[in-house]
Amino acid sequence: MNETNIKDESLRLSDLSPAELAAALEIKPFQARQLFRWLHQKQVLDFAEMTDLSKAMREKLQARCAASCLTLLHMDQSPRTGTKKALLRLPDGESVESVLIRDRDRVTLCVSSQVGCALKCDFCATGMAGFTRNLTPGEIVEQALYLLRDEELGGRTPNIVYMGMGEPFRNYDAVMKSIHLLMEKEGLGIGARKITVSTAGEAPSIERFAQEDWQVRLSVSLHAANDTLRSKLVPLNRRYSLERLRQAILEYQTRTDRQITFEWTLLAGVNDRLEDVADLVRYMAGIRATVNLIPWNPVAGLPYSPSSREQCEIFRDALLMHGVTTTLRREKGQDIDAACGQLRRTRGMAV
Ligand code: SF4
Repeated sequence: MNETNIKDESLRLSDLSPAELAAALEIKPFQARQLFRWLHQKQVLDFAEMTDLSKAMREKLQARCAASCLTLLHMDQSPRTGTKKALLRLPDGESVESVLIRDRDRVTLCVSSQVGCALKCDFCATGMAGFTRNLTPGEIVEQALYLLRDEELGGRTPNIVYMGMGEPFRNYDAVMKSIHLLMEKEGLGIGARKITVSTAGEAPSIERFAQEDWQVRLSVSLHAANDTLRSKLVPLNRRYSLERLRQAILEYQTRTDRQITFEWTLLAGVNDRLEDVADLVRYMAGIRATVNLIPWNPVAGLPYSPSSREQCEIFRDALLMHGVTTTLRREKGQDIDAACGQLRRTRGMAV
């Protein structure tokens, strides 16, 4: 895709639902649905190619605004796994990364919700650079559109996980709007259960999320189940302790009756010991959750090392023995720095 020329920066088409497009552009609802389909369903970001719009309308749109607010700077693809990492420039010159992970015929898109992140988790590449700004709904959705261009899905809709750069609940309204846009039937039509929002533990937002009228999934990045260790790894824990987090999760489950996932990044000698398993099992009492173990991916400048494969398996097996449903993720993007906790605009910084 070529560089876009933003004509009216206040008019971002990808921020808008079909009804909002009709109102903003003063066009008929059916024309707005056509335009939305081109942008979201077909990922066509050039008005000239939108052949079922009249020529006059295409020219009017062309003169007034850009079809897309992001610009693709670089797309890496792992020859080993097929994982793709997109580096995208935002209209103000900032950039974000997003990842497509393919596992046989299952495709998962990992999108960013902020430029950088203020939470500074101790093992995370994104947190190292600090927080710059929130993304708009369209800036989130367009990450998915760019990743899906030219991608063969075989009629299946992709999964979306809000696990890229940033804490999604620190950008609550834009993230919720982006979910509505991704679910829109004239667009990608992604089912709510195929979408997961991942939080580092913003307890009040979990309670707010519980009131949303949909079946979007929740994942909590736990990484430690005693307050001393968790406050070091995830500084947000100093604000919302494990007990406060538990209250929010229980309220979420009371309201929604939905299981959650705990994410646990394994760091050698830090949180991969049997005593950490014991803490986790104790913490999970009364919470319906599965555990997703993530081998940590080395990040230059951070004082950690990854747990050995053998230790990861010991940790997993210990949880399984306690009856906890546990998966041990096989990293699929490490060779292009696209794995969890590795997104930090590496190419962007050089541009
Ligand atoms: S792990 Fe997530 S919440 Fe923590 S600093 Fe990184 S991006 Fe932010």
